[in-house]
Amino acid sequence: KSNLRPDYTFENFIVGESNKHAHATCLAVADSPGQDKFNPLFLYGGSGLGKTHLMQSIAHYILQHNSNMKVLYVPSNKFTNEIIEAISKNKTEEFRNKYRTVDVLLIDDIQYLIGKASTQQEFFDTFNALHDEGKQIILSSDKPPKEIKTLDERFRSRFEWGVPIDIHAPDYETRMAILKNKAEIKGLTDIISEEIFEYIANNITYNVRELEGALNKLSVYSELGDIKITEELAKNVLKDFISKDSKVTITPELIINTVSEHTNISVSDIVSTKRSQDIATARQISMYLCRKYTDKGLKSIGDAFGGKDHSTVHSNIQKVEDKIEKDPEFAEMVDVIIKKLNPQK
Ligand code: ADP
Ligand code: MG
Repeated sequence: KSNLRPDYTFENFIVGESNKHAHATCLAVADSPGQDKFNPLFLYGGSGLGKTHLMQSIAHYILQHNSNMKVLYVPSNKFTNEIIEAISKNKTEEFRNKYRTVDVLLIDDIQYLIGKASTQQEFFDTFNALHDEGKQIILSSDKPPKEIKTLDERFRSRFEWGVPIDIHAPDYETRMAILKNKAEIKGLTDIISEEIFEYIANNITYNVRELEGALNKLSVYSELGDIKITEELAKNVLKDFISKDSKVTITPELIINTVSEHTNISVSDIVSTKRSQDIATARQISMYLCRKYTDKGLKSIGDAFGGKDHSTVHSNIQKVEDKIEKDPEFAEMVDVIIKKLNPQK
């Protein structure tokens, strides 16, 4: 009856530094849905970091503890399709009956909720109707509200009514814990050595789904009988898999390109001497990231920006550091760019 995966529960979710805030917030919402401060609950973070798992955990939890509540989980493309179909077949009444009578509505991957004005309007009305009645709305996305370019401004501000919650990539300890937990579930603990776990945790750093994928690759060997997988075999089996996630060297060029892509300011403007606010900010952030994520000194960073002198670079970096301290929104934006760069530390 339900479209929830039975194994996406809080019990099966490993909590670590990277996701403990998200986990705690989700538990709080599951425990008492509809509280203003978490309504909507907006979860965001890169692919494979556990957003769907956490959302469905909330749904399971509420269904288990509040059997009288109506809980509806839907991926946003399904939601969009249903709106489109309802509008084209004159069945909006039915659509509203389905979506406006729930106590908890969870819409996954909201970044895909694109479409015509009429579909956005229907979504907007659904959101408002539920919110007005104090019903819990839970949304997920791969980026924070203000960066979802496909959505109207009116959504972005509404999505920030509750505090958007960020899920980070798991740190090493969390990756090890997740690997061991999944290996246990798959019955692989006897054939995978500590060294192999470490090898995986050291090489797949940014995506829990891929940690699991690596175990799946090794799991074929468990079917071959009672062999213990050697480190050499594991490395060989995982070679291609891991190179996808392999370390990219962060260079000033990569940083400038990433900032350019993120800010929509061209590379040539970033390395120019133009002083308009947006361009200067993009330039400052780029310099700051060069200092932080490359081993370049001030002089050679200056060179990468068309030959700025080291004191200019220094004062630009300073400006970014100050602004990160004082302006949480700015800090968050820098954080998102860092995520895109995906430094392996
Ligand atoms: P997202 O929706 O953010 O792309 P998912 O929720 O689909 O990611 O998670 C990807 C896979 O990783 C799923 O199989 C999920 O169970 C698993 N996973 C993610 N985070 C954790 C965690 N902290 N503990 C256990 N499994 C996790
Ligand atoms: Mg997902």
